[in-house]
Amino acid sequence: MTQEDLKIINDAIRDIPDFPKPGIVFKDITTLLNDGHAFSVLMEHLAARYKDYGLDFIAGIDARGFIFGAALAQMLGTGFVPIRKKGKLPYTTISEKYSLEYGFDEVEIHIDAFRDVKGAKVLLIDDLIATGGTANAAASLINKTGAVCVEACFILALNFLEGKKVLEKQTKVYSVIGID
Ligand code: AMP
Repeated sequence: MTQEDLKIINDAIRDIPDFPKPGIVFKDITTLLNDGHAFSVLMEHLAARYKDYGLDFIAGIDARGFIFGAALAQMLGTGFVPIRKKGKLPYTTISEKYSLEYGFDEVEIHIDAFRDVKGAKVLLIDDLIATGGTANAAASLINKTGAVCVEACFILALNFLEGKKVLEKQTKVYSVIGID
């Protein structure tokens, strides 16, 4: 991607200091989504990167991963699979717990999410990786179904946290923008 395109994407993401709590800088991607040109520059970049991966499915993490994941799946002609917070999926699921600062959370996937595609090649996508807890659990879920998480893709990676390093133990990791 050109430096110019990278700047278009970067400039479209808004920083919200102290949200949802003091000390956190929330990376707000709604200002990227409502900028038709920036959104298109991003999606064209992702489509070009992944067109030759031979992907069968894109799996998006609840909820912002759905937006980028569904758009990319449509561009590549693959299926889309939602990985949701516990209790949202209606059919039989498998689930994976992960630790938060206090307590734990849980994500789920339908047992038949990847249809009957043996060893389906899956790209995992979310807007941002911080500690990596969510993405790690999501990648484990994909692999537990018998599919293969070939790469995890993020628009933003908070490189000062260990998330990317941890996730790299189970899959390849790509981020469009790294924040040091
Ligand atoms: P983690 O499991 O710590 O990697 O957190 C990743 C999830 O939390 C992603 O779904 C992000 O959308 C969200 N998240 C964490 N930190 C931020 C942040 N600073 N700005 C925006 N979203 C965040």
